Amino acid sequence: MNIEAFFKLSYGLYVVSSGDEKKYNGYIANTVFQVTAEPPQLAVVCNKNNLTASVIQKSNGFSVSVLQKETKPETMGLFGFQSGTNINKFEKINYKTGETGIPIVLEDTIAWFECELVQQFDVGSHIVFIGKILNNELVTKEEPLTYAYYHTVKKGRAPKNAPTYQGNTNSVKKPDVKYTKYKCLICGHIYDPEVGDPDSGIPPGTAFEDLPDDWSCPVCGAEKENFVEV
Ligand code: FE
Repeated sequence: MNIEAFFKLSYGLYVVSSGDEKKYNGYIANTVFQVTAEPPQLAVVCNKNNLTASVIQKSNGFSVSVLQKETKPETMGLFGFQSGTNINKFEKINYKTGETGIPIVLEDTIAWFECELVQQFDVGSHIVFIGKILNNELVTKEEPLTYAYYHTVKKGRAPKNAPTYQGNTNSVKKPDVKYTKYKCLICGHIYDPEVGDPDSGIPPGTAFEDLPDDWSCPVCGAEKENFVEV
């Protein structure tokens, strides 16, 4: 398989949300697309490990919020790199409730769609949900955020549940390192050299200085330069 060929596929970035008043959840998806115009239908692809997958099945619907080009790192961090199992992602952001009772994220959103779940396909690691569009709105005429812009300009990275996640092949090993911790100024995540960042192939015992230049915060995706010594 040539990994670089996959990089030639283009995508946008969206927040897909679902739930009811008891529990709202949402995640960042790049695999959202219109499948038909009559009736108007969207497809979204969701990892089975995402809490939102089971929430969509329970609620029988979902919303898609199209993110603007200059989306805040905090929004990417909250929906892309944190699990709703531990936190309420809707506590600190702007959203509204659709006519079906599902939440619709308005933070950094330029357009949204409220959908009724009409079909789903199990494709192994992920589920493809087909939704019929019930309501939608063009919020502003800002440009949408594309996956390419997020990766090349914003230096963001894919959450590990994304269908496009390829891991990180860089790994650094140094026997004697200073165990200085660093804190992310965007989300507050602490990088601990004793733990490393195994999800990105960074073994325990890797000093912050020895992290590859393209390493980014595992919580919010912020670049290395956003970290300060604790
Ligand atoms: Fe962070």
